[in-house]
Amino acid sequence: IKGQYGKHFAVYDDKLRKKLLLEQAITDSMEDALEQGQFEVYLQPKYRIEDNTLSGAEALIRWKHPEFGMQAPGQFIPLFEKNGFITKLDQFVWDRACAMLQEWDQKGHHLPSISANVSRADIYNVELAEILTTLVKKYGLKPSRLHLEITESAYTEDPDQIIDTVSGLRDLGFIVEMDDFGSGYSSLNMLNQMPMDILKLDMKFIQIETAKPVHQGILRFIMGLARSMCLSVIAEGVETKEQLERLRQYGCDYVQGYYFAKPMPCDEFEALMCQSDKQ
Ligand code: C2E
Ligand code: CA
Ligand code: CA
Ligand code: CA
Repeated sequence: IKGQYGKHFAVYDDKLRKKLLLEQAITDSMEDALEQGQFEVYLQPKYRIEDNTLSGAEALIRWKHPEFGMQAPGQFIPLFEKNGFITKLDQFVWDRACAMLQEWDQKGHHLPSISANVSRADIYNVELAEILTTLVKKYGLKPSRLHLEITESAYTEDPDQIIDTVSGLRDLGFIVEMDDFGSGYSSLNMLNQMPMDILKLDMKFIQIETAKPVHQGILRFIMGLARSMCLSVIAEGVETKEQLERLRQYGCDYVQGYYFAKPMPCDEFEALMCQSDKQ
């Protein structure tokens, strides 16, 4: 038995050691990667359900690693949240988002807004409001063009702090979306006190068998609740026509998902925008 335990620990140690080595390698290379342009902002369109018009886009980061190829955020964001680099990377994404809005405004496209993710680490940055204000000024944009997606779990981590910070951002004119709503942390009671403009339904709600009456009831309930709080609702993770039609029926305002398009490089998004401008 003793020998077996030893073996297990050896395997475990080896896995852990590999993981730590990989994390160290990523940490050592991330600053250079950003400088060398290995991070790229992808955009995924959002549509207004009422008339199928393009209403905005979500900015999602990708890492084009020279050795390991294209990396999805799940591979590196958790580490960047631990080592603090997320703050810098998010600022890069916000900057790109504003730069694209300015460029497209000048070209005469009409993209109402881009939504960017705000990591929980950013919320505690005392300079957050100043950084964002400076940024929109730099590109000559109204703050309302930049939507800030803040995950529900960050809201519940330190409610007092978040209410303060998010209220301040809204006062400045930024539009705040509560991301991943319903993923399991906030109570309905708290929702009432949480500052936000848009409720972004977690994709689990959409991808669960929505045909079941109980799930339909939950979706209807959330839409009604949002309406009574004067919030708009966006559903993400919409993959089928059936899901779309249900959401339409329940009064959802906006949709985003593979049914319409996957996240794509900015030039592809521009092409898509040109098409919808013509329609
Ligand atoms: P999220 O903010 O909830 O973003 C939505 C995720 O769902 C994206 O994954 C998107 O590609 C994916 N998605 C969109 N439509 C569908 C669909 O119809 N079906 C399915 N199955 N998935 C869909 P992605 O790009 O891999 O990002 C994962 C997470 O990484 C994001 O979740 C967000 O929490 C984080 N993230 C991505 N970019 C950034 C960033 O720039 N900053 C920060 N702080 N976090 C980011
Ligand atoms: Ca998001
Ligand atoms: Ca989400
Ligand atoms: Ca998520």
